[in-house]
Amino acid sequence: MSDHPLLAAQGLHRSFFVKAGLFQPRQSLHAVNGVDLAVNRGEVLGIVGESGCGKSTLARMLLGLTPPNAGTVSIDGRDISTLGRLELARRVQPVFQDPYSSLNPRRSVAAIVAFPLEVHGIGTRAERRRMAIEMLERVGLPPRHADSTPGQLSGGQRQRVGIARALVMNPEIVVCDEPTSALDVSVQAQILNLLMDLRQEFKLTYVFISHNLAVVEHIATHVAVMYLGRVVEFAETAALFREPRHPYTQALLASVLTPDTSLGIPETGLGLSFPDPVRPPPGCPFHPRCPRRMAICETERPPLVRDAVGEVACHLYPASALQGNSP
Ligand code: SF4
Repeated sequence: MSDHPLLAAQGLHRSFFVKAGLFQPRQSLHAVNGVDLAVNRGEVLGIVGESGCGKSTLARMLLGLTPPNAGTVSIDGRDISTLGRLELARRVQPVFQDPYSSLNPRRSVAAIVAFPLEVHGIGTRAERRRMAIEMLERVGLPPRHADSTPGQLSGGQRQRVGIARALVMNPEIVVCDEPTSALDVSVQAQILNLLMDLRQEFKLTYVFISHNLAVVEHIATHVAVMYLGRVVEFAETAALFREPRHPYTQALLASVLTPDTSLGIPETGLGLSFPDPVRPPPGCPFHPRCPRRMAICETERPPLVRDAVGEVACHLYPASALQGNSP
């Protein structure tokens, strides 16, 4: 067995040039700004944060769809940029947020699920169709839907097709980017339960991206909380929910206690809306919204410090305190 984590990111950076207006110069937006992650086989890493925190860009880098400006993504210790397309597809597959736009509306459901097999030249046409229908049945879509088009299915059924398409290549890792946020609350639970069952059956490792900690609590073994392109807290799920340490994590958790968890984090708890990622605040990027900010927070960015519980980037938890006990 390998000594490496199954999936690892080291020093990942990705920036984009954006224009604020027609006559404005282009500016650099650091979508992901120095992220390290490690996911062991069988774990579920939840990555949580608001829109614009960089979690979807991070997902695309983990999938090999967006190359990093710096840093590496590796699977079993091998840089994914050195893997061939077929090997990468066999190891990591995506499930996207919006089943409406990620499925070809003109193809049948069976053809959509069989498409990755077709691209990689696996099996005959009849074998691919059989494999697709078997996988559709496994995710809860009866064979009578095989020749339907996505437009003839409900949102939940379409997401089942997206999951079947991801699993037909028999991957080890599935990166799920907001897989339930476009669905009704009752359907969200069904899809989450399905993902948990499939994890057991296919021995999958998940990266599960969401703006909603309540959703992540149900499925993740570990949670990384992102803010403006950086991880600000990381811990096992139970520890993070029992004792969130970063004030931003505490605000996210407060949102879990609102009646409608789909609302995300309540602005009332944080005072100001999410900052412009092109012009992040100096010092701790969370300081304009933080109810516990101190003078140092306005000028010095806190490093991500590791202890026995996890990792946290906040001046309330200096390295000297974490090596002993948390404050
Ligand atoms: Fe709040 Fe300061 Fe901690 Fe940032 S470093 S989260 S501003 S207390």
